[in-house]
Amino acid sequence: MGFWWRPLGLLAAVLLVAAMLWAASGASTALLFLAGFQAYVLLRRLWQEYRLSRWLEHPDEVSPPDAAGTWGDIFYRLERLQRRQNANHNQLTSALERFEHAAKAVPDGMVFLNHAEQIEWCNPASSHFLGLDSERDRGQFVRYLLRQANFLEFLDAADYSRRLVCKSPVNREISLSLQLVPFGESQKLLVARDITELERVDAMRRDFIANVSHELRTPLTVVGGFVETLADNPHLPEIDSRRYFNLMQDHTRRMQRLLDDLLTLSRLESAEHGLNDEPVNVPDLLHTLESEAQSLSRGRHTITLQIDSPLWVRGSLQEIHSALGNLISNSIRYTPAGGAIRLSWSERNNEVVFAVTDTGEGIAAEHIPRLTERFYRVDHSRSRETGGTGLGLAIVKHVLTRHGARLDVQSIPGKGSTFAAVFPQSRAIKAADGDNIIKFPAREQAAG
Ligand code: ADP
Repeated sequence: MGFWWRPLGLLAAVLLVAAMLWAASGASTALLFLAGFQAYVLLRRLWQEYRLSRWLEHPDEVSPPDAAGTWGDIFYRLERLQRRQNANHNQLTSALERFEHAAKAVPDGMVFLNHAEQIEWCNPASSHFLGLDSERDRGQFVRYLLRQANFLEFLDAADYSRRLVCKSPVNREISLSLQLVPFGESQKLLVARDITELERVDAMRRDFIANVSHELRTPLTVVGGFVETLADNPHLPEIDSRRYFNLMQDHTRRMQRLLDDLLTLSRLESAEHGLNDEPVNVPDLLHTLESEAQSLSRGRHTITLQIDSPLWVRGSLQEIHSALGNLISNSIRYTPAGGAIRLSWSERNNEVVFAVTDTGEGIAAEHIPRLTERFYRVDHSRSRETGGTGLGLAIVKHVLTRHGARLDVQSIPGKGSTFAAVFPQSRAIKAADGDNIIKFPAREQAAG
């Protein structure tokens, strides 16, 4: 109603003036006045219409018209409408930008397909996994670009609960899981997820179970066989039954060692099992390890120990003992009688190194990178003969990694090997005052 007051008031005022003119100067003056007013209204309207059309044509360049009266009201309302639209538009644009940024950052490949399976948009990950390009391939039919038979069959099936596992068409090393998700009227989203790592872990798990079963089968079969023989022949000569019992004991011990090593590995791998951070007196530990080595070798090897560094390391005494002990027991097991084994503890290039060098059978270069894999053995029968589980170096690698250290292996077939546990300077500590590191020479003298 507010709109009408002003124009109706103006009209009433004009009619009043016309009536007064009529009374004062006659009808022709009043009609002339009314015609003049009419012409003014028409011209003003044309002018405002011109301004309005100019503004509507270039709303961003021309400033909105402003006027008094009803035109002013109209302009004001139009401008408000335009401002609201601009705000909506900006909101939409920034929402779209946010969506695009997010979709670009998603690690999975995402391809938007319209009802005819033409590509509407795809993110950068889809270029990495599927070789698609958002600019180049927009509007292309996806089935012309990805032509593998299993993919076409997957598209045709349009079974949205199904996932297709396949190799990436651009990189055969990448395994993908593809899924179609329907949305909107009849659009689809094709999602490509990289499952290479999952597949690798799954394959490792399967291998591991197969390996463990294989490792347990032989001793179990042997023990089972002897138990049956003994049960069927209760009056076996004492010498035979004793031999059977000894063999059963050997195989039971083998299974026990395997289970112990498996438990150690699983304990080391479990995330909750944090690392002990105690000062470990490595020089002292090496003396203990040397005597353990002497008793393992039973005089078959010449074992020497050289300590050139007084440094200790921070970590778990029990784990470091087991890792270094493993390296030493390997060198004894893989070095024929009469060979030499040298243990050393020294500093080089800002690192502290425990090394065990043997004059054993050595290892060909192609095996070295795989030695720390679980159950990897260069010579299976040699490993079993000497009581190996194939897990020793896997345990060593885990322990060293937990201590920020690494395993260096150098070997010449037929000449011997050096296995070195290399600790970073950051793990090394100086023995605390009062700690009797000076006792090592004394011990060496005592041992000598
Ligand atoms: P195993 O229980 O079989 O000894 P490890 O994991 O300790 O398992 O070692 C893996 C393989 O590495 C061994 O089977 C052996 O072939 C090789 N190896 C380890 N240490 C030595 C060494 N000092 N000299 C020669 N070969 C070695």
